[in-house]
Amino acid sequence: MLSCETCGSKEFSETFLDEIFQVEGRPVLVERIPAKVCVQRGEATFSRETTERIRQMLHGEHQPIRSINVDVYAFQAS
Ligand SMILES: [Zn+2]
Repeated sequence: MLSCETCGSKEFSETFLDEIFQVEGRPVLVERIPAKVCVQRGEATFSRETTERIRQMLHGEHQPIRSINVDVYAFQAS
């Protein structure tokens, strides 16, 4: 049974998330990744199979479905 790596909770809700990964220094966005979200504190967990599948997609022969421009901010304390 899956348990949360952070809090140990075994209650999860299933959802789909968009996540940015770095591939060779370039950010890429993967949409609609199946994830489990811890009901206690909201951390998202991807299964090992999902993580491996993303790795295959990003490093394999899959092509992006579209490109977007991303605005980047560096955090600065006010
Ligand atoms: Zn948790």
